[in-house]
Amino acid sequence: MPELPEVEQVRRGIEPILRGQRVVAVRLLRSDYLEPMGADARQIEGTYCVKTHRHGKRLFCEFSAGVTLRFHLGMSGRIYAAGSGEPLSPHTHFVIKLESGRELRMSDPRRFGGIALYSSVASAVAAEITGKVGVDALKLKPVDLTVWRSLKSSVKMRLLSQREVAGLGNIYIDEALWQAGIHPLTHVNRIAPAQLASLVGAVKKLLRRSISMGGTTLRDYRNVQRQPGRFAQMLQVYGRAGEPCRRCGCELKGIRVCARATVLCPQCQPKHKGRQS
Ligand SMILES: [Zn+2]
Repeated sequence: MPELPEVEQVRRGIEPILRGQRVVAVRLLRSDYLEPMGADARQIEGTYCVKTHRHGKRLFCEFSAGVTLRFHLGMSGRIYAAGSGEPLSPHTHFVIKLESGRELRMSDPRRFGGIALYSSVASAVAAEITGKVGVDALKLKPVDLTVWRSLKSSVKMRLLSQREVAGLGNIYIDEALWQAGIHPLTHVNRIAPAQLASLVGAVKKLLRRSISMGGTTLRDYRNVQRQPGRFAQMLQVYGRAGEPCRRCGCELKGIRVCARATVLCPQCQPKHKGRQS
């Protein structure tokens, strides 16, 4: 499932294709792929894209009339560029045809992703971000996690929830917790300040490196030019249960947290390390 670095790659890919371009036509091939039901995406026809923006795993495109589209890639969503004569890839649900003759298309075989239409940037932010998800993970600071001091849930569960930090999923959470030496089941109120700081540092470093390598492709993810990312080869724990830890040589262990496959090193991430005094 695409996480922050993959969505950021998509944003960087569509920005030069979309920005300043007038929208000639919009086609919605599956009516239930656009929210709210019955919304008319043709409202953006004749307008041009002012800018693109990303928060966590959500991608926003703002058009000159103020209308804003929010894209969510879900499990298998792809936004790709194509020439107007090119045949549609299977499961293409949405097409934006631009003045340049190019098209941006979104395909999504499993349809866990989707597009939402808002009349303004403010209404998009109010519905999608405010009170729903936390700070974008690339901007995370320890102070954003102050509420953790009074919460008892496991750190992995809390990070998956997006409530304090937006953009991390199963892959980068396991990687960041391994980097910071924190067991995924550690309760957030038991993480010592120094460990919290190292988690925050690990998250941002990991995301920046992944972005610089085009993100992680395990199966479906491709960038706008339909190329896979190269960060999968850099993963230290994700998908490596049973293999040796690259830091200490100990066998990596697979457990389940919130029904998600989770990998950790029992030696580098002991369960009670970091207990707050
Ligand atoms: Zn280890």
